[in-house]
Amino acid sequence: MKRTGIFGGSFDPVHSGHVRYANFICDKLDLDELIIIPAKLSPFKKTNSVSDNDRLNMCRLVFTDKRMTVSDTEIRRGGVSYTVDTVRELKRQRPTDGLYLFVGGDQLMSFDRWRCFDEILASTVLVAVKRDDSVSREELESFADSRLRRYGKVEIIDFIPFDVSSTEIRERLEKGLSISGLVPEEAEKYILRGGLYRDI
Ligand code: ATP
Repeated sequence: MKRTGIFGGSFDPVHSGHVRYANFICDKLDLDELIIIPAKLSPFKKTNSVSDNDRLNMCRLVFTDKRMTVSDTEIRRGGVSYTVDTVRELKRQRPTDGLYLFVGGDQLMSFDRWRCFDEILASTVLVAVKRDDSVSREELESFADSRLRRYGKVEIIDFIPFDVSSTEIRERLEKGLSISGLVPEEAEKYILRGGLYRDI
């Protein structure tokens, strides 16, 4: 069975942490394909700082590994991007793929509040990636056991992240500070050439 990962986010902008993470999960879960899906609008965020096209273009410039595909499906669908809608669409398009949905460890602890979370669990393997000690492995396992695993499979894996966030990149750009080394070179050039994130 083809193993297909789903990695969603705002990518506002994409940074080196995202790329390292994508490589790690492809290797760790032995994925045949990882679909990177920039959200039109995350249910957890109010707005994005640059256009949908800019976010999509930056992702296409940096996720160049042959296993990785950047999808515009959430941007084309419009509105708030609910994961369940994306999972339904992928299941329709790829009925025989095994789908692996990646979320952060902190996101696991409120996963039972995501729209139609039981349907998502029935349709995918949920992989929670623990990136820090804000929640312990015991807490994650116990939450998965008591609230989620009756609906489907949940795996918890550890990852030591490259410590950077899109918020930090936006703040640095607004202050005119360098983002060199924090963002892949192709995305850095795109940002600087377009003057993105200067006045937000
Ligand atoms: P913001 O600072 O705007 O909240 P962000 O840096 O967390 O953004 P998102 O686009 O929201 O970026 O991230 C999408 C997903 O990428 C997150 O759910 C998280 O799992 C993962 N992620 C974010 N930053 C890192 C990082 N430094 N290392 C590994 N994974 C990351």
